[in-house]
Amino acid sequence: MSSRSEVSRRVISDKYRPVYEGDMPAILEGLSGGLSGTSDIVTEYEQALAAWFNSRHAVAVSSGAAAISVALGALGVKPGDEVVLTPTCPLCTVYPVMSAGAKPVFVDTRPHGFGVDLTDLAKVITPRTKAIIDIPMWGYPTEVDELQAVARGRSIPLILDLAHSHGSKLHGKHLSHYADLSCFSTHERKPLATGEGGFILADNLDLADRCRSYSRFGNLNGKDFGLNYKLAALSACLGRSRLEHLERQIEARRRNAHHLVSRITHPKVSEKQIIADSSPNYYFLNLSLSFRDNRKFIDYLDENGIPSDIKRYGCRCLYEFPTVAVYARKCPNGERLLNSMTTIPIHPDLKEDDLGYIVELINDYSED
Ligand SMILES: *Cc1c(COP(=O)(O)O)cnc(C)c1O
Repeated sequence: MSSRSEVSRRVISDKYRPVYEGDMPAILEGLSGGLSGTSDIVTEYEQALAAWFNSRHAVAVSSGAAAISVALGALGVKPGDEVVLTPTCPLCTVYPVMSAGAKPVFVDTRPHGFGVDLTDLAKVITPRTKAIIDIPMWGYPTEVDELQAVARGRSIPLILDLAHSHGSKLHGKHLSHYADLSCFSTHERKPLATGEGGFILADNLDLADRCRSYSRFGNLNGKDFGLNYKLAALSACLGRSRLEHLERQIEARRRNAHHLVSRITHPKVSEKQIIADSSPNYYFLNLSLSFRDNRKFIDYLDENGIPSDIKRYGCRCLYEFPTVAVYARKCPNGERLLNSMTTIPIHPDLKEDDLGYIVELINDYSED
């Protein structure tokens, strides 16, 4: 890392917080309508979401974690039930499972990606399995078409945690097309940002209705159980207005990713495998690393101002965290995957200089 003297250190932010011209008018319009989660603007936002994702139904909720809780509630997941999921996701996905009283059962990922390994899946399914959750990470599509076929064959509902995978596609279709219920977040860090917030997509009307009911105290009818997971109207205003910018944002991310990937020449660094006929939304660029010590490379980038989600969140398989350890089931592919990768910010605020800096730092790296 000596030939870098002509490039001065910079700090690449992993935060993307655009403010759009339409934000204020949208919020002001919202202020003149109802502010609650049952106001008309929320319904309009849901319709806009369904249209954007080419889904039949959308239910707005208060967070990505709420979306998972509501999905599990709508599917009738009860204490003692089992929910199968990959361990290579954030704690945000497994906590709602534990909160429902269900037992998280970890299934390994495929060797080169975050999708459920179907051979391992066959080993963990039991009569108590009430749902399977697949979690594509950093916007890279997983083999959800194959997983859907298996889940259907077993009559087990498939939930996708697409919290940050807005716009990621497989065979030209949004990933949500392949699931019974798809859960999204609109937390400030995600591609569609409303501060806090989330939504669920479903093609099946009965399932969508059950999600809506569950998120509204079962509509207080005293027959159906539910809690309050509604999205506030002002967040819906922002979401509806910002949805118009989402496609352009994803295109800019794809351009940045292409710019970087086509210039990285380091033999031990390459983009993580993209499955056939799919397009990531490039929430973050994923790089596969084959250094003797990958951690050192991640630290080197971090010291030079390029943050990694792997370092920021201490990413490891979920059962390695104390709060989840009781559910440990070793997943060697998942462990290897997380230990041999890093993430690079590629949001639209990055300028060509920033991208050049990232490329130069990576290509200059040598292991001592
Ligand atoms: C962000 C995220 C969540 C949680 O979303 P919140 O809106 O913060 O509750 C869940 N799963 C994944 C994969 C996420 O990235």
